[in-house]
Amino acid sequence: MRKSLCLVLLVLCAPALAAGATLHEAFNAQQAYAYTVQVSAFGERWPGSPGHQKTEDLIREVLQKDGAKIESDNFTATTPRGPVPVHNIIGKFNVTVDPKQPIFILAGHYDTLFKKGFIGANDGGSSTAILLSFADALARHKTNMQIWLVWTDLEEAIEAFTNGDGLYGSTHLAQKLATEGLVPRVKGFFLLDMIGDKDLSVARETNSSGALQRVIAEAANQLGYGGFFFRYDADIIDDHAPFLQVGIPSVDVVDAMYGPIGPNYDAMGEYHHTNMDTMDKVSERSLEIVGRTILLTVELIDARVGQ
Ligand SMILES: [Zn+2]
Repeated sequence: MRKSLCLVLLVLCAPALAAGATLHEAFNAQQAYAYTVQVSAFGERWPGSPGHQKTEDLIREVLQKDGAKIESDNFTATTPRGPVPVHNIIGKFNVTVDPKQPIFILAGHYDTLFKKGFIGANDGGSSTAILLSFADALARHKTNMQIWLVWTDLEEAIEAFTNGDGLYGSTHLAQKLATEGLVPRVKGFFLLDMIGDKDLSVARETNSSGALQRVIAEAANQLGYGGFFFRYDADIIDDHAPFLQVGIPSVDVVDAMYGPIGPNYDAMGEYHHTNMDTMDKVSERSLEIVGRTILLTVELIDARVGQ
């Protein structure tokens, strides 16, 4: 955590310190953990559920407080379960009048599995929460690029990730960006998924942009977090895929080993997509490592993109 000499005048000095801190230093891991607790307590969050509505309300409330330009991407998906309403939520920061201003996207899904009793503290909860804390950090920091925070909806498959089931919200939004001709302006897309895992180890996802993964590694090394990133390879179907498909350099920042790995478990670990995905498997420290690393990566890219 940030050190402070303002021990006596802490309250008076706090705003000044916050304003002076860099973007990644402004990431508040304690708040990110609190958001994860709050979102998980909403219970099941599949589209149409009361927990999903509460999550939508929280996202909009935080974005409003943080001064983001809020946009929606709503549609009805055709799924094996029938029509399902899908609500992607977008919060834009540092938007200028320049029609060529570069764009960078940080995304994560906020829906959870259609599964009774599944609260997805890590799978759905941590990604929702880390983006909320990114909003809080971005509220006080200027960047050259406009930064979009995107909460994707209906990432989870209704039955299985085959035959077009799953990735509904991200597929719709990626195609919308392509149709609007925005793809060339998007310098990168990072998807955050399952990054609250107490036993953190972010995979080198093999479909992702290697060039952007190298900048993430550079940022992680600078912060002393190198050991938590890219120690193993994994091929993951996730919300980054539709963005890669339309030509946006994208990275799935995903911890693909959640709990013990073995023949009796899901390929991504014992806690993945089971009702064992609860808050006791999530840590503030992991949110801090990923949150600070990703925001420093954005700073590095922002400096290279220029004015
Ligand atoms: Zn999942």
